[in-house]
Amino acid sequence: MDATLVVWILVLVVLVLFSAFFSSSETALIGSGRVKLIHLSEQGVRGAGRALRLVEQPGDLLATILVGNNLVNVMVAALATALLGPFYATLVITLVLLIFAEITPKTLATINPERFAARIALPVEIFRVLFLPVVWATTFVTDLLLWPFLGRQSIQKRRLSRQELLTAIRLGRAGAAGPGDLSFLSGC
Ligand SMILES: [Mg+2]
Repeated sequence: MDATLVVWILVLVVLVLFSAFFSSSETALIGSGRVKLIHLSEQGVRGAGRALRLVEQPGDLLATILVGNNLVNVMVAALATALLGPFYATLVITLVLLIFAEITPKTLATINPERFAARIALPVEIFRVLFLPVVWATTFVTDLLLWPFLGRQSIQKRRLSRQELLTAIRLGRAGAAGPGDLSFLSGC
């Protein structure tokens, strides 16, 4: 096999791994419960506090992850098209991205989202800083587009707080909530 081809295949593998990282991070962080993250942070689990800070800025977080995921997916598609041509690239890359970069990593992240989130919080934070200008630009445009729906968004926020409160009560009954969770409850 041509040495250049081997290098390009390796680049493709690395890009697919990055796509898997962004997809699993999205599932883990968006699916993480604030109360559980606070609990893990108080237990001294490394990265839990950082994951909590990321989760508390969902707009920036989603923009960072989606910028990263789309960037690498487009690079994979462009590179594969150059190597295989548009027909085979579409066929192969759709399957490869679905299996290795979306479904498998996302399913893995749902097993224990808070622990997963704690592990990937640092690299996600690094990407958040790296992508800051792009994130600002995209959130500015999306905020403009979402402006007519802001009223509805605030209702959803209230619903979420209620759900979080119910989770806190359930955890408290199970004896899993620590004294620090009271500060969360009073913040509701
Ligand atoms: Mg992905």
